[in-house]
Amino acid sequence: MIDRYAVIGNPISHSKSPLIHTGFAHDSGQAMSYTTLEGPLGQFAATVNQFRAEGGKGLNVTVPFKLDACAYATDLADSARSAGAANALKFEGDRCYAENFDGVGLVRDITHNLGHALRGQRVLLLGAGGATRGAVLPILQQSPARLFIANRTVAKAQDLVAEFLAHGTSAVLEGGGYGDLGAAEVFDVVINATSASLGAELPPLPASAFAAEGLAYDMVYGKGLTPFLQLAQHSGVAHLADGVGMLVEQAAEAFAWWRGVRPETRCMIERISVPLQ
Ligand code: NDP
Repeated sequence: MIDRYAVIGNPISHSKSPLIHTGFAHDSGQAMSYTTLEGPLGQFAATVNQFRAEGGKGLNVTVPFKLDACAYATDLADSARSAGAANALKFEGDRCYAENFDGVGLVRDITHNLGHALRGQRVLLLGAGGATRGAVLPILQQSPARLFIANRTVAKAQDLVAEFLAHGTSAVLEGGGYGDLGAAEVFDVVINATSASLGAELPPLPASAFAAEGLAYDMVYGKGLTPFLQLAQHSGVAHLADGVGMLVEQAAEAFAWWRGVRPETRCMIERISVPLQ
């Protein structure tokens, strides 16, 4: 029987993970299957237990189960522990290992695919939800000059900063509301980790926050030129990107973790990209 993998979520039919992992398996000659698994709400553990009993080797985890995955695992990687959420599980005997590859996928897309180093850069991260939690440590590990987390619910950004500072991360980290962004303050990299773009909404970000030679990155993918990217474009930002590269890179990290082979990602990114127009 070939090794079984899946992505668990609810809803899950929209997921591009089967396309991505099936492509990786084909390109790297790995004998495995990869499907979707719709977990009934409140039934995460039972659904995963059944998948394991049927020979499942690993899972990607998406909304709304990333916190459940963290609670379910027996062994948490630092990435999952610091994010408080897991997006990949690996099963070995009675152990369940958990990772969170979202942040590392984001950083690899920015630094490797887009060629935009984060070292010494002023980085603005919008949002304080799960995606931001996963991104903070991988960004800090790149030694930016500054990382400011801005969120609509100000206390969430402040709590997140306090939590990461308690882990001993550097004093470059600050957080607050959009109103706390100084009118004259400019960022080299602005990352939209809010879900605003899903509803064609725009976080209340001053257009003056973008550096002209900088990068505006929307984690949402497949939506073309979102209101956030439009604002950046109208502000004259040189480089625009959506989250398709992040999606493919986090998938590649999970694939390498499971199979010991890191797949090539560029063709897959090109294949599923939607033009930014
Ligand atoms: P969460 O639901 O955990 O957090 C949503 C965040 O967005 C909150 O901080 C919320 O603010 C903020 N927000 C929502 N609507 C608005 C708005 N209209 N204006 C300002 N802020 C708003 O979501 P996630 O963190 O899990 O995901 C965020 C986005 O990242 C999603 O769009 C998701 O698709 C994308 N993503 C992409 C990935 C990829 O691989 N490319 C991987 C993971 C996520 P508040 O706290 O005030 O409610």
